[in-house]
Amino acid sequence: MDFLDYRVGGPIADTKAPGGPVEGRWDRRRFEARLVNPANRRKHTVIVVGTGLAGGAAGATLAEQGYDVAQFCYQDSPRRAHSIAAQGGINAAKNYRNDGDSVHRLFYDTVKGGDFRARESNVHRLAEVSVQIIDQCVAQGVPFAREYGGLLDTRSFGGVQVSRTFYARGQTGQQLLLGAYQALSRQIDAGKVTLHARTEMLDLVVVEGRARGIVARDLVSGEVSVHLGDAVVLATGGYGNVFHLSTNAQGSNATAIWRAHRRGAYFANPCFTQIHPTCIPRSGDHQSKLTLMSESLRNDGRIWVPKAAGDTRPPGAIPEEERDYYLERMYPSFGNLVPRDIASRAAKAVCDEGRGVGPGGQGVYLDFADAIARMGRGAVEEKYGNLFEMYERITAEDPYGRPMRIYPAVHYTMGGLWVDYDLQTTVPGLFAIGEANFSDHGANRLGASALMQGLADGYFVLPATINDYLARGGLSHVSAGHPAVTGAVAEVEDQLRLLLCVDGDRTPDSFHRELGELMWDECGMARTESGLRKALLRIPALREEFWRRVKVPGGGEEFNQSLEKANRVADFLELAELMCLDALHRTESCGGHFREESRTPDGEALRDDERFSYVAAWEFAGSGAAPVLHKEDLVFDYVHPTQRSYA
Ligand SMILES: Cc1cc2nc3c(=O)[nH]c(=O)nc-3n(C[C@H](O)[C@H](O)[C@H](O)COP(=O)(O)OP(=O)(O)OC[C@H]3O[C@@H](n4cnc5c(N)ncnc54)[C@H](O)[C@@H]3O)c2cc1C
Repeated sequence: MDFLDYRVGGPIADTKAPGGPVEGRWDRRRFEARLVNPANRRKHTVIVVGTGLAGGAAGATLAEQGYDVAQFCYQDSPRRAHSIAAQGGINAAKNYRNDGDSVHRLFYDTVKGGDFRARESNVHRLAEVSVQIIDQCVAQGVPFAREYGGLLDTRSFGGVQVSRTFYARGQTGQQLLLGAYQALSRQIDAGKVTLHARTEMLDLVVVEGRARGIVARDLVSGEVSVHLGDAVVLATGGYGNVFHLSTNAQGSNATAIWRAHRRGAYFANPCFTQIHPTCIPRSGDHQSKLTLMSESLRNDGRIWVPKAAGDTRPPGAIPEEERDYYLERMYPSFGNLVPRDIASRAAKAVCDEGRGVGPGGQGVYLDFADAIARMGRGAVEEKYGNLFEMYERITAEDPYGRPMRIYPAVHYTMGGLWVDYDLQTTVPGLFAIGEANFSDHGANRLGASALMQGLADGYFVLPATINDYLARGGLSHVSAGHPAVTGAVAEVEDQLRLLLCVDGDRTPDSFHRELGELMWDECGMARTESGLRKALLRIPALREEFWRRVKVPGGGEEFNQSLEKANRVADFLELAELMCLDALHRTESCGGHFREESRTPDGEALRDDERFSYVAAWEFAGSGAAPVLHKEDLVFDYVHPTQRSYA
């Protein structure tokens, strides 16, 4: 059967979300959820894969509660998780500035910002918990920026008109991660967390329909081992690197969630990718990574291009009246702080008109001249100094004297494993948190909301909801000799052996690059039916070629980065196909998913709520077989879907 001939299966519902007024749902769920007696918690082992903000927070909190935790990451230290890269900040509805913020406003902004493709219950909970996150992190000693009077400082991010983003210079992720890492280290020292660094999960063990462990490979020795427990939590981050070039850390990959998908976890909204408007433009074919310039820069930087197409004068030679500050012109209320999907599409549009700047016309200016004149260079340096330095090191241009050049790039994936209100996937006992799940951002994530969601999931939500699953019991003893366990190990070993045996003539990286270019062209910032169909023809052919021609030098029982890479690219080659199918079936535009065929007369994304107001949850139906689509209807009782307007 053709992959395109997907079947629509029965609807899927989030059975864990309580009804009633949205403000009381999280309290009610916590009250109704069963608890595990503190003395019984030490009898349970929870496997947590990932040590970023979501996984680090979850591991530390579960261990603090008394559970035994086995924690995994592929880096040499939890501190190197990709979360460390987060620059701009973390949202919270503290309303310290008394500028009209509230839990309800954060809830409203996030549902609207996500273009009405997220669940109200989840988003409201996120807004409520945001307030606790800041208190927790301050108590840990996270050095958030403070203003003169001593209160925590905030700044604005896209898609909102209040100032609710807490930050630690341009290193917010790093400082938050150090906080979570401290908490985790305390539990490692107490013997409650066993850390397996440089160990990569390569499969999920499902016994009698429940997640009971993982198969992992020691990346140094190559040893494949099995780890069993009572529940498994995936906190393995996003899959933006399917595009090869993205702002994600180079190691970020989809293997854990993809293998879980193959074992029964539905994959939700895989095509919802965030393209971030302010990245350093690509400089050539040699590149393996793109660099983000934080959205916080849009607080003070002004974005513009020349009014005339083909104007190649240096920026300083273009007089004010010949510049087009197009975001300020098109969206006067939000100006340069429109949401990311809108800012990215506008940048693409002006470049497509031939007004882009820099090599190949693939760039727009982000200019701080006005800010420097207004605040002084010192104040700008204090706020953004490390970002300016990073820009200068990469481009050899001084952003204090000449506007930065920026262009949109792949940054975040809103799709991920489908989870219910308890953050449990469709495999009982398997939970997904942080960027690995699809939960709270709909079709577009607002800036500074990923850290909020990762820490909400890890510190507050999962530790409350996992109790309910564990308290219900019924978990039989599983031995390492169980056929489901030995079968999973054998499958992992077979695939590794196969990769080593092909002995072809193309590197894993060359396949990754080709796949990434295809995905960027056909499933990137703008998508069309014909382009997606083209990609859906090319991807299976590329996959077939991969398994015929890939070259993996070295052996399996040693440190072998080519083998690691090839194994991850094999998964990207499968996931990419599902992303394109999801994008093809959703003929509407919404948020980061822009279908050229579905736009308003003035070029904005045109949703089709009648037909697409649902979460698309895809079920794996076997290798090469067409997947099954399950729809979760979205209901909006509080924030009613309208055409988004930021004008
Ligand atoms: C450059 C950049 C800047 C950003 N800035 C911001 C910002 O200012 N504000 C904001 O809110 N968001 C920001 N984001 C987004 C945010 O950083 C991420 O969404 C978030 O940190 C993801 O956290 P996580 O814990 O879900 O996953 P990660 O931090 O990606 O952690 C994943 C963990 O899983 C482990 N792992 C993965 N696969 C396996 C496997 N198979 N086996 C074992 N371990 C595995 C890894 O080792 C790692 O420990 C930014 C993103 C980027 C790229």
